[in-house]
Amino acid sequence: MGLAQVDTEATISYDEVLAAFDPVMGLEVHVELGTLTKMFCGCATEFGAEPNTQVCPVCLGLPGALPVVNEKAVESAIRIGLALNCEIAQWCRFARKNYFYPDMPKNFQTSQYDEPIAFEGYLDVDLDDGSTYRVEIERAHMEEDTGKSLHVGGSTGRIHGATHSLVDYNRAGIPLIEIVTKPLRGAGERAGEIARAYVATLRDLLKALDVSDVKMEQGSMRCDVNLSLMPKGETTLGTRTETKNVNSLRSVERAVRYEMCRHGAILQQGGSILQETRHWHEDTGVTTSGRVKSDADDYRYFPEPDLVPVAPSRESVDALRGTLPEPPAERRKRLQSDWGFSDLEMRDVLNAGLIDLIGSTVEAGATPAGARKWWSGEIARRANTEAGADVASYALERGITPAHVVELEGLVTAGRLNDSMARQVWEGVLDGEGTPTAVADARGLELVQDDGALEAAVDTVIAANPDVAQKVRDGKVQAAGALIGQVMKEMKGQADAGKAREMILAKLTS
Ligand SMILES: [Zn+2]
Repeated sequence: MGLAQVDTEATISYDEVLAAFDPVMGLEVHVELGTLTKMFCGCATEFGAEPNTQVCPVCLGLPGALPVVNEKAVESAIRIGLALNCEIAQWCRFARKNYFYPDMPKNFQTSQYDEPIAFEGYLDVDLDDGSTYRVEIERAHMEEDTGKSLHVGGSTGRIHGATHSLVDYNRAGIPLIEIVTKPLRGAGERAGEIARAYVATLRDLLKALDVSDVKMEQGSMRCDVNLSLMPKGETTLGTRTETKNVNSLRSVERAVRYEMCRHGAILQQGGSILQETRHWHEDTGVTTSGRVKSDADDYRYFPEPDLVPVAPSRESVDALRGTLPEPPAERRKRLQSDWGFSDLEMRDVLNAGLIDLIGSTVEAGATPAGARKWWSGEIARRANTEAGADVASYALERGITPAHVVELEGLVTAGRLNDSMARQVWEGVLDGEGTPTAVADARGLELVQDDGALEAAVDTVIAANPDVAQKVRDGKVQAAGALIGQVMKEMKGQADAGKAREMILAKLTS
């Protein structure tokens, strides 16, 4: 059958794919390291600077310029390798990966080829159903980032339809670590979920290592998804496609599923998969053809002659091993048990990215339940709807700190505020009216401590609602709720509802 008869952009359903094929994935994650300077020169790395202001002869590849390896970047690479349970090379070199592209000023990328700094590791990934999938890591190697092309004049920002292109070399030479998995088999219908969970776990780990800001939306962490299908019962790997720069966790999952459905359609039509790179389109949820993928031979790799080999001593590697943080998954389990959160509560906390904020609030003196309650209620709603931000950055921007939560909780336990008053105070804090005490003072919020006033209100309400009072006398204790509501209204909300309840029941049932 000729290729012309095969629709290479058709898809079949996910169930149809799974009935006939096993997916095999390979995930390549590029992480920009958070070093102050670039991989081989002293240029600054800050994100968002004016184009071409963070460049020098080395990262522009000018003749005669000589690179020097960034020691901090090598340390970060080794720490990442150790955290991924990898072997660390005792001796390795950089290599030149030769290709011509406008965003690469040297016409080669300084990378590592057959001598990566870290190799043969694994990362255990917790899945939604509580099971664990072990992702085998083939290698983690050091390289440098390329510049950025900006295509102007078209509607899509892509080169097709553009009138001209601009290049910003600020990013050229920023240290990158590329982490490559072995082919992941046996994932079946959970392929997409496993891919997403792996990238999420890796992101948490890199964050805990404090080696990168891992912002997928800014491109400091990017994932390429390699995917192929094997007909069920066969063991030879099929031809793979590589979907580039998938920049959110959700997209990683969607891209895997989409390519599975597209490969399935081609293979069912009797066609064959073209080995190529694909572009992921976040808006439409599809991939489109990129360029035909080069084999390693086409890059004419050879050892970089301008750099000395990297040969970390065993002592220095052991010292770096001592700097590794508690693995995030273990930390989560420890904190969940320390805090007494249910699985559901902990999942909500994790999804909202609140773990560190709750941690520092508990450290500052709040109860875990209180920290969770105040950081996940109103402020989460506001962060999401007003700023589209996570709670931590929203709070930081407005100067709202763990100390505010501790103070608010203190006002409640001291008996100055009841729960609904505390909510009003918290809203005042979020509105920028000051500390909880200042807001409570300014708004005149204070529980009436005078039992005489409360008792008078209780008597008034009982007298005004004889029918309800009789129900309570007859043993319908839940009817007291209506009376408590009336008393709170009488007291303008500034009474302790628990105390009002006690008083009402004492008068009517004893
Ligand atoms: Zn430079």
